[in-house]
Amino acid sequence: MATLKIEDLHVSVQTQEGEKPILKGVNLTVNSGEIHAIMGPNGSGKSTLAYSLAGHPKYEITSGHAYLDGVDLVDMSADERAKAGLFLAMQYPVEVAGVTVSNFLRTAKTAIDGKAPALRSWVKEVNEAMDRLRMDPAFAQRDVNSGFSGGEKKRHEILQMELLKPAFAVLDETDSGLDVDALRIVSEGVNRVHDEVGSGILLITHYTRILRYIKPDFVHVFVDGHVADEGGPELAERLEAEGYDRYLGR
Ligand code: ADP
Ligand code: MG
Ligand code: MG
Repeated sequence: MATLKIEDLHVSVQTQEGEKPILKGVNLTVNSGEIHAIMGPNGSGKSTLAYSLAGHPKYEITSGHAYLDGVDLVDMSADERAKAGLFLAMQYPVEVAGVTVSNFLRTAKTAIDGKAPALRSWVKEVNEAMDRLRMDPAFAQRDVNSGFSGGEKKRHEILQMELLKPAFAVLDETDSGLDVDALRIVSEGVNRVHDEVGSGILLITHYTRILRYIKPDFVHVFVDGHVADEGGPELAERLEAEGYDRYLGR
């Protein structure tokens, strides 16, 4: 079993007015096989947590730790984090000009495994995964993220996750911009990875909608850069009914 342990994490960004603290002491532990939903109002720091775990240069960890099986991520490059089994699907994925989806996936797999996958079984695996996500085979030959629709970006994220089989996945607003059918297909993909690989999943979302398809074991409410409340799935139901007002003093 693997563990992702976030301990009193403080993160700042550099702005024109100077250093701005955003995460103010986040504590969170995710074990493999567990699904944790991070919910919270806009601007509460949810994406900042995802970017910080990804090692995004704009976000500076000023104190605290994030341990992956006892090894501090803070000391690892973004590549090393991926090799250690951390998968991060970002809310606004970047475009990669001139790199096809097919090449991108194979390069990522090779980097993470330390060796190239056997071509024939790899192609079969990619095709089967794309089929499960109802993706057009032609998609594999498109440039990464260039002109992808919102739904295509999300499917591409989940396709990566299915093929890379991470120990932990951080999914930021995977539900944004998806219609009901796409939401179901994408959710089934996340559930498949959870069931088959046993990944620990940190599912970041503003809305409770995706939680009808992906059942969290734990729910954490983010307010002003820290975890303000925690509970089981019943907490998501209460948030759906009541919103975040009671955490915001409204
Ligand atoms: P959430 O994902 O919960 O909506 P974010 O993590 O995106 O919240 O943002 C949290 C706060 O940090 C917001 O007030 C946002 O404006 C601020 N913030 C995030 N990234 C930056 C940045 N690069 N520069 C300045 N402020 C930022
Ligand atoms: Mg489980
Ligand atoms: Mg966000």
